[in-house]
Amino acid sequence: MSKEKETFLNYLAPTSPNPLMIEIEKAEGVYLYGPDGKKYLDLISGISVANTGHRHPKVVEAIRRQTDRYLHVMAYGEYIQSPVNQYARNLVQHLPENLNNVYFVNSGTEANEAALKLAKRHTGRTEIVAFYKSYHGNTHGSLSITGNEEKKKAFRPLLPDIRFINFNEPNDLIQISGKTAAVIVEPVLGDAGVILPSDDYLKKLRNRCNETATMLIFDEVQTGLGRTGKLFAFEHFGIVPDILTLAKALGGGLPLGAFISSREIMHDLSHHPMLGHITTFGGNPVCCAAGNASFEVLNAGIIESVEEKGALFQRSLQHDKIKEIRRIGLMIALEFDTEEEVQTIVFDGIERGIITYFFLSNNTSFRLAPPLTIEKNEIENACSVILEILNQL
Ligand code: PLP
Repeated sequence: MSKEKETFLNYLAPTSPNPLMIEIEKAEGVYLYGPDGKKYLDLISGISVANTGHRHPKVVEAIRRQTDRYLHVMAYGEYIQSPVNQYARNLVQHLPENLNNVYFVNSGTEANEAALKLAKRHTGRTEIVAFYKSYHGNTHGSLSITGNEEKKKAFRPLLPDIRFINFNEPNDLIQISGKTAAVIVEPVLGDAGVILPSDDYLKKLRNRCNETATMLIFDEVQTGLGRTGKLFAFEHFGIVPDILTLAKALGGGLPLGAFISSREIMHDLSHHPMLGHITTFGGNPVCCAAGNASFEVLNAGIIESVEEKGALFQRSLQHDKIKEIRRIGLMIALEFDTEEEVQTIVFDGIERGIITYFFLSNNTSFRLAPPLTIEKNEIENACSVILEILNQL
């Protein structure tokens, strides 16, 4: 065992009994490289983070420029820092009118925590409606609204006043009432294994929220920033949320999250009490410089190709062992009969130089979420390796 592996096992707290243990020396574009010269095609983007590929030159350059100026100078919301300003303005220019005010945080879970607080503060209500099978993060509040009991039960008590309903079940929408501060939903359930909303389900959800004056929070931590073939997934469904949460790809490879709403609504967090949400590192200037550069790269022609690339994966992955392919853009789940098949594909894939990965709440599927910059020939190579593994199952 290499020295690095030994150190990893001895000094880093584990999250599971069998981590992937891929040692990384360098990452570039869609490839990761190990110390032994081993090259891996990254089909998961560090879980939907590297949407513009690893170390995009424009992102690296923006980071360099910013590190020559300043790093952290003050907690969020006090000083005026141009990379933070620029990114907020840039995001708002790409969003509908009511999403015109950005609060930068550090991660997806924090963005969701803050969105819940904002909805409670704004409506004066306490109940939150969330969905079975959803995933919103791992801090207490986000875990409370996550619909996977298995992952929650050891950590109770969690937040009170959370009501769960079934995704894609219009009859459940009646449970959203005048007591509900907010409904939080992933427009496509990511870690449940890419579950798409049926026809006009999200429109019905929007209507019910309007009827009950309930805030609608879209958690686009995973679906945002081009992953689904549009900049934001809500654009597919003809509705706009009241609060949008983002993270993962938002920082171009550095840690950054955000919750976005209207100026009027956001104002509520600045009084009664003032400092209603605060964070030391949220909106870190280096992370915002990197994120803004990545955002510009995404908007300069990458997103347009996402659907075509996703469709190529789908066409190329025809095999009788695959029970179903669920997909939107380059957010893809392959469904199998058994968990063992999924385990074999992920671990054999690594041996053969492709990286795929599991879902948190669906153990008979695995995920493909490559950098959106992946090329046609790389998709074809990836699919032929997956098919080779399937032939040997
Ligand atoms: N929300 C969704 C939909 C996610 O997929 C994730 C992470 O996978 C999160 C929230 C949590 O984000 P983070 O890990 O940055 O806290």
